[in-house]
Amino acid sequence: MAVVVQKFGGSSVADPDRIREVADHVARSRRRGDAVVVVVSAMGKETDELLHLAGLVSRRRPGRELDMLITAGERKAAALLCMALHDRDVPADSFTGSQAGFITDTRHTNARILEVRADRVRAAVDSGRVPVVGGSQGVSTDRNVTFLGRNGSDVTAVALASALDAEACELYTDVPGVFTADPRIVPTARRMPSVSFDELLEMCASGCPKPAMRAVEFARTHGVRLHVRSSFTWEPGTWVDEEDTMERAIITGVVSDQSEAKVTITGVPDQPGIAARLFRRLADLDVNIDMIVQNVSDHGVTDISFTLPHDDLDKTMAAVTDLAGDIGAAGVSSDHQVGRVSLIGAGMKSNPGVAATVFETLAAQDVNIEMISTSAIRISCVIAQDDLERATVALHEAFALDR
Ligand code: ASP
Ligand code: MG
Repeated sequence: MAVVVQKFGGSSVADPDRIREVADHVARSRRRGDAVVVVVSAMGKETDELLHLAGLVSRRRPGRELDMLITAGERKAAALLCMALHDRDVPADSFTGSQAGFITDTRHTNARILEVRADRVRAAVDSGRVPVVGGSQGVSTDRNVTFLGRNGSDVTAVALASALDAEACELYTDVPGVFTADPRIVPTARRMPSVSFDELLEMCASGCPKPAMRAVEFARTHGVRLHVRSSFTWEPGTWVDEEDTMERAIITGVVSDQSEAKVTITGVPDQPGIAARLFRRLADLDVNIDMIVQNVSDHGVTDISFTLPHDDLDKTMAAVTDLAGDIGAAGVSSDHQVGRVSLIGAGMKSNPGVAATVFETLAAQDVNIEMISTSAIRISCVIAQDDLERATVALHEAFALDR
């Protein structure tokens, strides 16, 4: 009997109707002959609500107590789903992360999984029961309850699928799969029947919001096949797998992202060690730098630009302005109004001309490119935010992704 892990996100279990629908689906999957292991997120926006509540009673919000609070959301969803399963004569048991054997490090609110001792879950499966595990949680090596971070339930599901050697890990959500572009921007965007791990990771890194990148990385490392699909239509979604099992298109998708801002430092002395100082300073502030461009130096000075998450802009500007004085740079400026459009496709590796087509397409739209970065399977351009939608639509069309 094949074991399948089914993970249901917050919108999939948002209210009693949805929980009953999910229970129907689990019952149906069992009738088809699969042994089902379920992972649930907290209902709807409950995690946000619990965090808000914590803020109303405490300024400090100690991590240990926050984790105890937040993980109650998933625990509640697990118990309710089990009750709905019992109504359908499906024997089911809820488990907290700790009961399910998730051992983590001690980093509260953002713990890492160290080990999954899945024997209790496996025993439940072997005795014909459906284990329903609270997502995004575990118990630390200090024996405290830990939360794996926002969107951690995907990681729970993948780790459990790996520990149980499951045939697949199904990530149910409110969209029908991974699309060739954001359908809100490009109405002709299509669901991809399949995508490789490498492509999906590049898409996640370029701003595709789902699934969680950490879960995709875990799945690739441990060889867990993912199936991203809808709990609203229950139709097949997008399979995520190793590349060589699939017919490769040159380009698989366009991702647009508005979450980053750009910082430029002008008149930087062109000497060894300056970039090291700059980026070490930012690393120490925990700023996640993305694209970096340094100009050719002219008369011993150069410009450096980089992008970073909007949320980190204030602290970055303060640190960089301070440092600019120390190193004798001419000035520092920032731009919030930037967007990034990225084209992803494993076929890029062996097909020349992709970059040329990208630049021609943007030129025809009169879009100015501010920064460019590439990997073996991605081309990203930073452009004005106002041009982002137009550029995304044009690139989607230029590479015939709607067909
Ligand atoms: N409920 C948690 C969150 O929203 C965990 C999850 O859904 O994956 O972050
Ligand atoms: Mg969620």
